[in-house]
Parts: sequence; C-alpha cells; structure tokens
Amino acid sequence: PEAITIQELANRMAERAVDVIKLLMKQGQMLKINDVIDADTAELIAEEMGHTVKRVSEADVEEGLFTEAEDEGGLKPRPPVVTIMGHVDHGKTSLLDALRNANVVAGEAGGITQHIGAYQVERNGQKVTFIDTPGHAAFTQMRARGAKATDIVILVVAADDGVKPQTKEAIAHAKAAGVPIIVAINKIDKPAADPNRVRTELLQDEIVVESMGGDVIEVEVSALKGTNLDKLVEMILLQAEVLELQANPDRTAEGIVIEAQLDKGRGPVATVLVQKGTLHVGDILVAGAEWARVRAMLDENGNQVKVAEPSKPVEVLGFQGTPEAGDRVAVVENEARAREIVDYRQRQKREKASVQFSGARGSLEQMMN
Ligand code: GDP
Ligand code: MG
Repeated sequence: PEAITIQELANRMAERAVDVIKLLMKQGQMLKINDVIDADTAELIAEEMGHTVKRVSEADVEEGLFTEAEDEGGLKPRPPVVTIMGHVDHGKTSLLDALRNANVVAGEAGGITQHIGAYQVERNGQKVTFIDTPGHAAFTQMRARGAKATDIVILVVAADDGVKPQTKEAIAHAKAAGVPIIVAINKIDKPAADPNRVRTELLQDEIVVESMGGDVIEVEVSALKGTNLDKLVEMILLQAEVLELQANPDRTAEGIVIEAQLDKGRGPVATVLVQKGTLHVGDILVAGAEWARVRAMLDENGNQVKVAEPSKPVEVLGFQGTPEAGDRVAVVENEARAREIVDYRQRQKREKASVQFSGARGSLEQMMN
C-alpha cells in the first residue's frame, strides 16, 4: 500500500502514536491517530525515529505463490466443477439434492451426508463436482476476487414459470465469466409446464438451445420426480469433454475457499476446492489472510481423506483463523513463509479497515489502495 495510518506506523515501529503525531506536528502537519500518511512521509518519520525502513511490497510477499500459466507437462483430465443458478423457487436446491441423493442411494448405502458447500457425484467412474452454495452471491463474490471456481453453469428454469429476472442475471454472470451454460428446464412433471415457452423466452437473452438450432445444451428434468437426472449428468460430462478440462495433480496444491465457518468443536473449518495439484494432510497452506497446517480433510460424506486431487472439494481442518469464501488457497514450503504472507495480508486488511474508518479525511486514492 502507498499509505499507512499513524496508528499502524507506530505499531510497526513499536513506538507510541502520540510521539509520531508530535514529530509530524514539528514538521507542520496536524494529524490524528487514524489519519493516513503516504509511504514517503512514513519512511522519513521512521528514519527520524531511528528505525531502518524496509518497504515490503505485495510483489515480494506474493511472488511465486500462484502459477497463472498452465503447467507445461503432467496435465491430466479433471472432473468438471458445476454451479447451479436460476430464479428463486425454480428448483436449484431440489436439483442439487436430487443429484446428490441419487448418488448416495446408488453409491455408499446409508452414507451420512453433511453440508460442506460442495460435493462430487460419480457416474460410470466419471466424477462431477457441484458447488452447493447460494449460487449468485458466491459466484459474483468469487469473480470479484478474480477467482474462477466454475467450469459450467446449470441454468435452472421452471417450465411453469419461464425466464425471470434472476434467470437473466444468471445468464449475464455466466456470459461475463465466459462459462458455458447448460439449461435445465425443471418441473416438467407439472401440468402447467410449458418447456417450449422457456426455449422461446431464452432467445431474448441470446440463449439458443440445441432443439432450436443453437449450441446451448438443454435437458428437461424434474428434480421432484428424478426425471432425466442421468441425462443431465451425461450432458455435463459431454460439455466437460468439449472443454478439455485438465490439471496437473503432481504438484503443490492451489484452490479456492468455497465456504468457511468457525465450528464450536472443531475450530475454523473451510471447504476448499482443489484446482491444481494435490492437497495432502500435513500441508501448510495460506487462504486469504489465514493459514493452516492441514490437520485433517473430510469429504462430503464425512469420511477422512488423506489427499485431495484437482476438482475435489474437502473440508479442511487446522486453520489458525477463519478464511473467507472466495479466498484463494496456495500451499507453501513452510510455516515461516505462511506466517510472512498472512502477517502481510492481515496488516493490509487492518490498514484498509482503518482508512475506511477515518473516512473522508483520506483521499479517494488512499481509500482505493
Ligand atoms: P430454489 O429456490 O431454486 O432452490 O428452489 P427449491 O429447490 O427450493 O424449490 C422450490 C419449490 O419448487 C419447492 O417447493 C420444491 O419442492 C419445488 N420443486 C422443485 N423442483 C420441482 C420439480 O421438478 N417439480 C415440482 N412439481 N416441484 C418442484
Ligand atoms: Mg434454494
């Protein structure tokens, strides 16, 4: 950051803020404890008070943390990550539950499912990962942080209700993110269902489904009756094949926090979607302004797993604090590195908060740093 509050500067030097204010006053600047000064002024003050100044930039701390470029070798196919979006009451939750239960019934009998924000289902040995968080909010939050957590959007449209405002919103999000859409025309069991009306209405938003000569896959389903769910999964896998989704499992892991909370018994718990590499128990990772030594990982059925490969969502235990949904995750070499990164990020967070707190006195530029 190019600015710092007087309080934060004093903290970092282990000096009293009032002494900093006095020094500034001598130089003709009348400032209060939560006021912001620029980096150059801060450096002068620090030197005058007998401190050595080392400016730590984001680049220093974050260097090499994420690999933006695709791995050259070692790429292997990975399961698609799917988010279900659509207007309220059109059946997002029902569809997620139906897809999951169908799998639970077929798979591990009597498996106790728990909500972990994301889960995988398996069909004929092929996996699909569903993100099970309130669709739009999570999607936009993650996108705002430059993270891409979704390969495919399932757009749920109730056949008896048609295209609605949140349907259009979902289309806009998916398009802006460059994520392909599969249309699930839901509630076809209802007498009032009119799937063709849905198809026609979608044209307004330039969604042309295959049966109308376009290239957007559509499937008529009933989440309630379980109709065509297999077909939907099949279409997801087909779309995934077209996308040629790949990742290198043989490297340190990167991923994203899908959701996180402070659990009374277990401490901070985060659902992490692994996107590259393989996450292992014992790994040290940073997520936003928090870090963890992975103590345990649990899958959606509450089973402990030792490793999590690309597109696998797992609950991660062992965090020092609770990270935020949308935080990017990276495994680092050791605890010292994790602490360095997290210290820096927490400092930045505090500065941002105090700059906002001191309000209008900071310039607009400072507020945006
Ligand atoms: P969400 O708001 O999009 O998550 O929608 P919900 O899954 O909560 O569903 C809203 C309502 O529609 C609930 O009463 C569901 O039981 C009902 N519903 C969902 N899918 C179907 C379906 O395929 N057929 C019928 N008849 N009702 C459905
Ligand atoms: Mg719902």
